Amino acid sequence: MNISTVFIQAYLSALLSQPPSPYAGPAQFKALKQALKQVEETRRADGTFEKHGLVNVLDAVPDAYIDIKYSDTLNFTATDVYGPYCACHLLPVVTDKLRVADSLLKKENPELRFVFYDCTRPVSVQERMWASLRHISLNERGRYLSNPKNHSVHNYGAAVDIALADTSGNVLDMGTTFDHFGPEAYPYMEKTLLMQGKLTKEQVNNRLLLRKVMLGAGFRQQPFEWWHYNAMGRPEAKIRYNVLY
Ligand SMILES: [Zn+2]
Repeated sequence: MNISTVFIQAYLSALLSQPPSPYAGPAQFKALKQALKQVEETRRADGTFEKHGLVNVLDAVPDAYIDIKYSDTLNFTATDVYGPYCACHLLPVVTDKLRVADSLLKKENPELRFVFYDCTRPVSVQERMWASLRHISLNERGRYLSNPKNHSVHNYGAAVDIALADTSGNVLDMGTTFDHFGPEAYPYMEKTLLMQGKLTKEQVNNRLLLRKVMLGAGFRQQPFEWWHYNAMGRPEAKIRYNVLY
């Protein structure tokens, strides 16, 4: 038995004799991660985002649900691209519009709330997401994600990825999941998909309700994603605001 074998055996026996970690279970791990995220959120809210003139959406829409999909691995990149950050910050002009959209929503149905999937997205995150789709042709990629070189409206804090939920937090059925890349998610295809039986009347009506209140507040719908709304076009954002890196 050589010295390295002795060392490995001693290491393994020490490891096996240790009591299990208190953070070993998924529930504990989740709680720990949530705590870390809260600390990070406070730090970033105090620094980066506020210095950039962005505000927390919960200041405008206090009952909204925040479910930042890229701050988890359950998204198309299969990577937690945000790390500990899991809040929603936007330009004040955008949260003003969301306040209007929320009052329109409550008039339609006081039991409904907004769910935010993504808000301001730093360019560095956009670059990671773009790289994760490198297996898709450039043309096709540009349909679902802005090339980071040209910047996305998300990079300025002027776009939101949004859905609707009830007061228990159940997201309404919109026909596809968030970040579904395909015609089923295209707003302009809804009538055809309804006729083909690929979307139900309820799914289309849920999308139409979201669209009604968002367009009513001055947002614009992205043509390939039912969840994406811009508060202004990219040329206007470019002239008036800076991207966040
Ligand atoms: Zn988006």
